[in-house]
Amino acid sequence: MKYEGMIFRPPSEAESLILQVTVGCSYNRCTFCSAYQGKRFRIKSFEEVREDIDKASSYGLRVQKVFLADGDALAIPQSDLIRILEYLRKRVIGLERVGIYANAKDILKKDVEELKALKDLSLGIIYLGLESGYREVLKRIKKNATIDQLIRASKRVKESGILLSVTVILGIGGMEGSQVHAMETGKVLSEMDPDYVGALSLMVVPGTPIEREIKTGKLVLPTPFGLIQELETMIQNCQCTRCFFASNHASNYLPLRIQMPEEKEEALRRIREVLRRKDPALLRPEYLRGL
Ligand code: SF4
Repeated sequence: MKYEGMIFRPPSEAESLILQVTVGCSYNRCTFCSAYQGKRFRIKSFEEVREDIDKASSYGLRVQKVFLADGDALAIPQSDLIRILEYLRKRVIGLERVGIYANAKDILKKDVEELKALKDLSLGIIYLGLESGYREVLKRIKKNATIDQLIRASKRVKESGILLSVTVILGIGGMEGSQVHAMETGKVLSEMDPDYVGALSLMVVPGTPIEREIKTGKLVLPTPFGLIQELETMIQNCQCTRCFFASNHASNYLPLRIQMPEEKEEALRRIREVLRRKDPALLRPEYLRGL
């Protein structure tokens, strides 16, 4: 497989075949993100992608899941994406699901029928970053979508029948915006009503604009227990009809896996107990945290 640069994928795609169909992120300006710094965005040609698919399929192994990298592969024009998915189905034995990162604008460029056409060709899950439901935070981190666009994009994905996984970031509102960020994010998640929520904690990457904000004191990060308080507020305000909420990403101090709504109250009880005791031994140690 010919990968260009570092490859990122969601934790749930750990066992998937990663097929790089685009290089980098077409936006690449979120202040906290360093994933594709230095990569100039481009869509790979079908010939390049076909070569990788042929290579992967030449081993004759069964591959149930494929993840299309990089940052926002849904930016690929519809007809080209269909061509890739058709070829994957033709060559990959046992293919059950294809996953992809997308941003709200790319989703909104497609109507429900177009998304359904992709679903019929095995596109089974879309990963979308919300980061925060608080407008002020989205503006500050230079997110390339508004709350309204993010909600509309989510509803469109849900209507198409493709699974939706949404990422949120604890701590990204800073100390000052901490509780509003958590509350608004919970509320927006309720409107988006995704199938999965992944909560990460902000990890400050050297060289990013957000690191400069922190160094100059413009942004002060919440404490570890402040992040757990955010988790409590977010879950409290999240009224998703049926979703799996996970904070087990390596960046988090308190790993949880909650089936909502059934396990919500139990999870809140556990979080409140941790907040009451404020014992650092209850948290994931700093040396085990990472991106
Ligand atoms: S859209 Fe995603 S990949 Fe691109 S810069 Fe923002 S967070 Fe990073």
